[in-house]
Amino acid sequence: MISRPSVHSRDGEVAVDERSRKREDDWFLQNEKKLLEEARKAREKREAERRARETEEERGKLKKLHWMKCPKCGHDLKTEALEGVEVDRCTFCEGFFVDAGELDVLFLKKGVGQRQSFMRRLLGI
Ligand SMILES: [Zn+2]
Repeated sequence: MISRPSVHSRDGEVAVDERSRKREDDWFLQNEKKLLEEARKAREKREAERRARETEEERGKLKKLHWMKCPKCGHDLKTEALEGVEVDRCTFCEGFFVDAGELDVLFLKKGVGQRQSFMRRLLGI
């Protein structure tokens, strides 16, 4: 676990040690691709294990019942394309859902500023 040391200024606000933050940011930049690849492999392994447990018929029934339905409120989902990533947004509660691997694509292709821009567009702010 990485701890982030902080320094308390006289007015009581917390000031983060900038050198420590830069080291932490550098570590994440250097290891981000490796971490995402490990996460993708773990996800594919879990999916293969689930497929082995379920029959084709069971998967078909579940897909027919839940395809493009919001997991929270059950209303329809509508697909939106945002900067090359497809997002399924609920037409009622406005929650959103991305398929496995779509966030990986976003994080591998975009810089920090573009990720923030994407999140702002996603959230409509
Ligand atoms: Zn919903």
